[in-house]
Order: sequence, then structure tokens, then C-alpha cells
Amino acid sequence: MVPIQMVDLKRQYTKIKSQVNAAIEEVLESSAFINGGAVQQFTGELQTYLGAKHVIPCANGTDALQIAMMALGLEPGDEVITPSFTFIATAEVIALLQLKPVFVDIDPQTYCLDIAAVEKAITPKTKAIVPVHLYGHVADMEPLMAVAAKHQLYVIEDNAQAIGADYTFQDGSKKKAGTIGHIGCTSFFPSKNLGCYGDGGALFTNDDELAAKIRMVANHGQSARYYHDVVGCNSRLDSVQAAVLRIKLPLLDEYIAARRAVANAYDAAFAGIPQITTPYRAANSYHVFHQYTLQLHDADRNELQQYLASKGVPAMIYYPVPAHRQKMFEHFGGAAFNLPVTDNLTSKVISLPIHTEMDPDQLELIIQSVKSFLNNPPT
Ligand SMILES: *Cc1c(COP(=O)(O)O)cnc(C)c1O
Repeated sequence: MVPIQMVDLKRQYTKIKSQVNAAIEEVLESSAFINGGAVQQFTGELQTYLGAKHVIPCANGTDALQIAMMALGLEPGDEVITPSFTFIATAEVIALLQLKPVFVDIDPQTYCLDIAAVEKAITPKTKAIVPVHLYGHVADMEPLMAVAAKHQLYVIEDNAQAIGADYTFQDGSKKKAGTIGHIGCTSFFPSKNLGCYGDGGALFTNDDELAAKIRMVANHGQSARYYHDVVGCNSRLDSVQAAVLRIKLPLLDEYIAARRAVANAYDAAFAGIPQITTPYRAANSYHVFHQYTLQLHDADRNELQQYLASKGVPAMIYYPVPAHRQKMFEHFGGAAFNLPVTDNLTSKVISLPIHTEMDPDQLELIIQSVKSFLNNPPT
């Protein structure tokens, strides 16, 4: 059996090797390493795929979030509502810009922002909300946008984990995750659902004025060549990464289907096991399973992780410490936030391998290993 990995990037690459190598060679031959044709082409193709008016590429997902907040003109002391149950980047850039992260609890089923809790956390200083489409499940955007409109707040979607996911509105219409808020942000980190072979990221917006500001901020605050109107940063997707992404974007829906097939197999195998809660799928969210994350009850998570490792099955805890309990937020009084759902889930979640290259025998080993641990827990 091929060794099991959380994400098998090597075997995915092997299948597209000749195309990828040719595309990279083309960039090398053109030597247009920055802002080359591949960047322009990929940007247009992603715009079409997402149905977004503007896609602005940048250097990584963390930069995308930072650029979004800078482009919206958020100022020191402004409050930004965000979940604590997320990768640290979401909250980190808020603090980096001297904004105040206001951590709000999550829905215990979807692991995404609890909309009622968001509304309760709004103060006169609140300027923006950053929902995270965690593990590939889209936050409940329709009621969230209604709350934001009522209080005149910006919404920045952290879509690093849910590119390609659809959200369905009450009227039956659909939009891609990341294109519903004022700005959407994503990451092309290699292990993301649409990953490149280095760092990369992008912002999406349907607002022309915002798009212009985002472009300016991402390019040294430049309005015309060597005229700099605002303090910005330097954040670019390079041509080699764009060339790789151009090969992978047409495969994204296939990749999502492969991930969902793995998730369906896990769901079926673990149904009815009392120690396991399988991931919830809200009817309005087409889950793209960046992660397949279980809740484990009445069983020791670390022991399961060790047991699985002994069988050659990796498993990860995303994330062992929620943002509000990180040392970096001690001086914000992070731990004072009362987030019982977040704290409870943090102690229970464990993610199993999920990727586009899973073999049936690998899947079987993972499932049987989890089951045998639960049937004969170590004493
Ligand atoms: C990966 C990730 C990011 C950051 O992306 P980078 O490209 O690594 O900077 C931000 N938010 C979430 C939820 C992520 O998963």
C-alpha cells in the first residue's frame, strides 16, 4: 500500500506532471516571472469560475486578509468580529493592523460563526465581520449579510479552506463561497483545495471601487507608476505559481468530488458509532471537505492519534488551541472571551486524511483502525 498522508500532493502532481512541467518551462522561457501572462490568464479564469467581478492575486492568504482590511480603511481601535476556532492568520492580521479582534462563538454543528452571537457582539466600534468557511463548510452567509447590512458593517470572507464551495440562498440562487461578502480572501498554499507549488493567494470582490483600492494597497499604494497615494504593501502571485494554478483550476471540481467521495465513505463507515460525531452538512452549504474532522466522545483523542500513527495512519488536531487562548492575545484579554462551543470542540476534534488521491485500501485501513481503537480502547 502507498503510505497514507494527510494530503498526497506528490501523487496528485504525478498525474499532471507533463502539463505542469511544460507550463513552468513556458514561464522560464518567457522569463516574465512577475505579472506575466500566466498571472493575467489565471486571474481571468478564476473570475469566470467564481462568477466574481474582480479577482486580485496576491502572495498568500494571510496577505489577502491584511490587504482586505487595509483596503476597507479600517483604523486602529476598530473592532472586527471573527471566530476563535480558526487558523491563527484570521485573527493575527486583525491585531497586526492594531484593530481589535472580537472573538465570537461558533455554531456547534457547522463550526462556523454563530450569527446570533455575532449580532450580540456588535458595538459602536464594530466595523467588520470576518466569517471563516472552516474545513470547507460555508458559514451561513445570508443571515450574516443581513446583520451586516443592518449595522452597516463590512464582511470579509476567509475562504482559504472553501474555494469552489457553493452557498444556496433562500430563493434557491447560488453563489460561490468568497463572492458573497464585500471581499473574499483565499490561499493557494499547497495543501489547500486549490494549491500551488509555493505560496499564493487572492482577493475577490464585485465592487469596482474596492477592487481598485485592493490593487493599490497590494502594489505599494501606487496609483500610477511611481506615484504612491497610500501606505500599502508588496504582495504578488508569481508567474510560476499562476502557471501551476492554471493547470489545476480546471480540475478543481474533480478534486472536490474526490474529497467528497472520501468524506461520504467515512460518514457511512462511522454512522451509528456513539463515540463519533461526523461532520455536519447544512443544506445551504456544499461542503468541499478541506478537512474531514470528527468529534470524539468518551475516548482519548491523543491515544487515538498515537494508535492510528502505529498503523501508519496520520491524524491531526485542527486546531489544538483556539485563537482567543493563544499567548499572542493575552494582552487583549483573549481568554476572557466566553466561548464554550469553541472550547468544547477544541478538546474533541480530530481530522483524518482526506485528499484527491485516496486508494480504497488506504481508506479501508483508516476506517478499520479507527473502529478497532474504539472497540478495544487501551486501558
Ligand atoms: C491557510 C489559511 C490562511 C492563510 O493562508 P496562507 O496562504 O498560509 O497565508 C488563512 N485562513 C485560513 C482559515 C487558512 O486555512
